[in-house]
Amino acid sequence: MPDCIFCKIAEKQIPAKIAYEDKDLVAFHDINPQAPVHIQIIPKKHIARVSELTPETAPVVSQLVLAANRLADRLGIAEPGYRLVINCNPGAGQSVYHLHLHLLGGRAMKWPPG
Ligand code: 5GP
Ligand code: ZN
Repeated sequence: MPDCIFCKIAEKQIPAKIAYEDKDLVAFHDINPQAPVHIQIIPKKHIARVSELTPETAPVVSQLVLAANRLADRLGIAEPGYRLVINCNPGAGQSVYHLHLHLLGGRAMKWPPG
């Protein structure tokens, strides 16, 4: 997808600190971290937002979550806990229109989120 910054990261046209990669996914450290651990996990295939998932494409979300769980274990934030976030559309704070799962951890989290 032209002009999609996360497609460019997935294609290595823009540098990022990669935390995990397989044939379907890339995970990389956020450029503006909101917690000691803040990683974006994305499908390599361009999907603009979570609301555009279909029964055919939705299984990628379980791949994102499983990758997040493994990263949380590996990075030592599984205990005491971590947060997974998907923002959809501007009112929820989505700023990059390529589906991404935020993995946040390493500090206490408040609820409700802002
Ligand atoms: P959103 O607000 O769309 O849910 O989250 C987008 C996230 O992508 C933000 O946390 C932002 O800091 C991160 N981000 C935006 N551009 C870049 C970039 O070029 N590189 C990296 N590593 N993260 C980015
Ligand atoms: Zn994209």
